[in-house]
Amino acid sequence: MKKIIFHSISIISYLFPTKLLIHLSRVRTVFLFYHLISNNAPIHIKNLYSVRTERKFRNDLKFLLKHFQYTTEIIRHNSSKKNYFHLSFDDGLKECFEIIEPILNENQIKAVFFINSGFIDNKDLFYKYKVSIIIEKLKTEKINKQNISHLSEILECKTKLKTVIQSVQTINFKNKYKLDRISEYLKINFIDYLKQYEPYLTTNQIIKLKEKGHKIGAHSINHPEYFEIIEEEQIKQTTESLNEIKQQFDSEDNLFAFPFTDNLIKISFFEKINRNFKNIYTFGTAGIKYDQIKNNIQRIPVEMFNKSAKTTIKTQYILYILKKIFNRHLIKRK
Ligand SMILES: [Zn+2]
Repeated sequence: MKKIIFHSISIISYLFPTKLLIHLSRVRTVFLFYHLISNNAPIHIKNLYSVRTERKFRNDLKFLLKHFQYTTEIIRHNSSKKNYFHLSFDDGLKECFEIIEPILNENQIKAVFFINSGFIDNKDLFYKYKVSIIIEKLKTEKINKQNISHLSEILECKTKLKTVIQSVQTINFKNKYKLDRISEYLKINFIDYLKQYEPYLTTNQIIKLKEKGHKIGAHSINHPEYFEIIEEEQIKQTTESLNEIKQQFDSEDNLFAFPFTDNLIKISFFEKINRNFKNIYTFGTAGIKYDQIKNNIQRIPVEMFNKSAKTTIKTQYILYILKKIFNRHLIKRK
């Protein structure tokens, strides 16, 4: 549904000049995030989402710089009549250092990088990346009948390759142990994969990003879906990752981006985190929207519908203006 609405509005978005949308919405700062920019989608990501090329990213920045100026501060209600964009990158992939930073540097833009403390230096692999690696193997190699039968047993699904692939795609944080069992049958060694591909940023690269003027924030320890875990675990994931990032990178900012989404996160969670971390800002992924929790900032997921930043932002502005008419522009929490 969300996809259909987005696509329908994106088609007519060219009719509305950006300046007009900013003026009508009175939203002067847009918060955007990406994961990866690369001309080659790595195996651990290619079956999860479409990866933006360097050329398309450069075009995105051109559009942004035409209408906004960058900020790494949180500017919500500004009176200076300036428009800002706040750029962040989630998941701490090595391409942040190798590809993204050089492009940002060319354009003299600073950004925020949200890092999973458990993955720095390729210590561990995000379970969704395991999903992508497994699917790649299932799609590209001949899998014998016996193995399909073993996999369907683990996944509790029909003994058909297509159904096995579909079931792997739906594995979540709670049953991610199944991925390790599947990998044994498929002879995939995730530790070797980590060594060979080194998907993540190293400690040294993160230090260099910070020295170049970018900000470093936390993104949980190992990227769980927060609504699948109890609040105590949410607090642990948030607090431990924030403490580690702050300590390791000498960061005075308290910045935290929720893994996946901040959907269904309760007020009690925010109260506890706000008590533990002074002046913290947390970040969600709901597009242009305001939040009942004043220091919880919603960001636009630019990669989600695989459209340019221009089309994505303009569509988000139109959606926001429409939501505001029906008083649906504010996220209310229990
Ligand atoms: Zn993430």
